[in-house]
Amino acid sequence: MKEKTDIKSMNLAELKIYMEELGEKSFRARQVYQWLHEKQVSSFEEMTNLSKALIEKLNQNCVLVSLKKEAVQISKIDGTRKYLFLLADGNVIESVLMKYKHGNSVCISSQVGCRMGCRFCASTLDGLVRGLTPSEMIDQIYQIGKDIGERISNVVVMGTGEPMDNFDNLLKFIELLTDENGLHISQRNLTVSTCGIVPKMRELAERKLQITLALSLHASTQEKRLELMPVANKYEIHEVIEACRYYFEQTGRRVSFEYSLVAGVNDTEADAEQLAKLIRGMNCHVNLIPVNPIKERSYVQPDRGAVWSFQERLEKKGINVTVRREMGRDIDGACGQLRRKYAGN
Ligand code: SAH
Repeated sequence: MKEKTDIKSMNLAELKIYMEELGEKSFRARQVYQWLHEKQVSSFEEMTNLSKALIEKLNQNCVLVSLKKEAVQISKIDGTRKYLFLLADGNVIESVLMKYKHGNSVCISSQVGCRMGCRFCASTLDGLVRGLTPSEMIDQIYQIGKDIGERISNVVVMGTGEPMDNFDNLLKFIELLTDENGLHISQRNLTVSTCGIVPKMRELAERKLQITLALSLHASTQEKRLELMPVANKYEIHEVIEACRYYFEQTGRRVSFEYSLVAGVNDTEADAEQLAKLIRGMNCHVNLIPVNPIKERSYVQPDRGAVWSFQERLEKKGINVTVRREMGRDIDGACGQLRRKYAGN
């Protein structure tokens, strides 16, 4: 049997060609695209300005990717919502909604599982299952928007998975997300976070998009980074920083560094000094995140004092720093925890 076409992953130009292949007039593409990306329907039957024959044809040849809300946890502290979505093949993924004064931000997954092996991360414990399609990425945002009945203004690709390990689908997703015929979210309101896959970071830079690149740095020396992140075996720390500089040169966008503070591992004064040296002169921002402990590992958060003095040391060197507010502390906060619990771990 021929595999069905995922039309929700197509941009308007591709959909036009596809409609012609189906023997339809190309203007139908715009109508179908509107149903998929503006009205966000979950079945072809709901596309009421199409003929019965076309709906039948779509049902026969295409799938309409629409994620099923399997569970949602709502934080009593800050209203953060953690969603578990069921995919058509039975896999589940997590997404998170965070409410800020400046708007609603959604954190999406880019893969089912992950093969990067970061030591402190729950998402990677069972390895990679597969990359998500562009439609599966964007539908996380559509479903959450519908669920809360409010506009989503910011998107971060910081959930489960390594977006640069699913690069083509990521680019397609960005195209759909920012398209004026869809949610029309500005590139500046999108952040993509990577563990540091250098060739893809450079390729992204050359696309000259206005999205924010976040690098998961987590250490200030190659030796320490290797202890936490196996990807450092492949891309040495200076090479990764160089790719960040290149991203800024190409796009003019300030790069963010994510630094999860782990007590006794990367939180000393010497670590802060070394970090300041490593990123000296860069137009950047550092996000300090006290590590979210997972039960499979023994990593613990530094106490408040240690976090403050780490921050202060960087600030003294003229570096922009924020300590990330922990959101949803009363729900399964850390990446991949909810999905693992669902799978019985
Ligand atoms: N693979 C991408 C995006 C997903 S991870 C990346 O590595 O950037 C999103 C962020 O959460 C990364 O900075 C990651 O290092 C961090 N992270 C994962 N598990 C964590 C934990 N238990 N505590 C704190 N940060 C964590």
